[in-house]
Amino acid sequence: MKKFNFEDLIKPSAKEIQKYIPGKSNLNGDKNVIKLSSNESPFKLPKNVYKKAKDLISLSNEYPDGDSHILKKEIARTFNLKHKNIICGNGSDDILSIIAQTFSTENDEVICSEYGFTYYPIIAKAAGCKVIISKSEKLGVSCSNIIKSISNKTKIIFIANPNNPTGTIIFKDELCDFLTKVPENIIVVLDGAYSEFITNRKYTDGINLINKFKNLIITRTFSKVFALAGLRLGWGYANQKIIELLERVRGPFNVNSIAQSVGTLVLREKKFLERSIKHNNKWRNILPKKIKSLGLEAHETFANFVLVKVEKKKFSKKRILFHLTKKKIIVRNLDNYGLHEFFRVSIGSSKNLKKFLTELKHAIDQEKCLKK
Ligand code: PMP
Repeated sequence: MKKFNFEDLIKPSAKEIQKYIPGKSNLNGDKNVIKLSSNESPFKLPKNVYKKAKDLISLSNEYPDGDSHILKKEIARTFNLKHKNIICGNGSDDILSIIAQTFSTENDEVICSEYGFTYYPIIAKAAGCKVIISKSEKLGVSCSNIIKSISNKTKIIFIANPNNPTGTIIFKDELCDFLTKVPENIIVVLDGAYSEFITNRKYTDGINLINKFKNLIITRTFSKVFALAGLRLGWGYANQKIIELLERVRGPFNVNSIAQSVGTLVLREKKFLERSIKHNNKWRNILPKKIKSLGLEAHETFANFVLVKVEKKKFSKKRILFHLTKKKIIVRNLDNYGLHEFFRVSIGSSKNLKKFLTELKHAIDQEKCLKK
């Protein structure tokens, strides 16, 4: 028999896919490791939620509710929405992937921003599409460049607002102006993974815009402010027609029963939510200033992470990250985002951020010694 290679079976667009590189994990569970690489919540779940969650494992022999009814009702109640406009998923990456599978096909184009979330090109290519990367401006998403990238083959536009990994946002006026310019047969996905952290009045999470813009889909997650990254839970919001289509394509039981129940419970924990947002607001102001005082460039952020620039003329990013790793502090190297002079640090607990700053200072001091 002729020698056979599975690579030959893969669809052409999927051949180009590079595996998603997540933030480094603390694989052996070392308690001394400080993980600031995946924008997770530094807070453990409130005790009463944790207690109730422990009993849920007893239902593991039964399938979950395939329609996540109770969870949808609670999301609707919390955010003042209609439950028929909601779809739930195994993390928001599940929803993003369902959107790509539902709407895009071979020969379609999908637009993503330069320096945007690297999962969008993966799901677009997996669906068979060509990915068009629109140029970023000042490290943020440029609405005008996206408009210029639109062709008669464009099917979906993915935008994260705030953007990961740069932490920039598009304000309400610019967003509305942009949505007005996008033809209505193009799906616009507004990924609000970090929406809950924003208290700025000029920002909108876009939820109120779905009646005006029928082609708009909002995606949200429980992985960040709600501290459920490990359980995998996300949701999408759009007009009912779009939701009905997505519901036809998703997996039959795409949200496990523990995630459904814990998600429902955590939405009621208003104090927990307030505390998380307050902590984030405090550190998103302090952290860039402290990093700048050490001689690096740190960008203003609207999310729960800070983008840091290590100018290669001044210091070696490789050596700095090596020092941090040696001290068991994991941040996110952004080489695979094409951001070779940058890394990203998540807003962790105050204790861990202080340790990060101390070790970052040591690393910079060493760099300065080497220059002498
Ligand atoms: N969108 C953006 C912009 C993200 O940064 C992330 C997580 N890194 C996700 C979506 C996916 O989040 P999850 O699947 O955990 O809901």
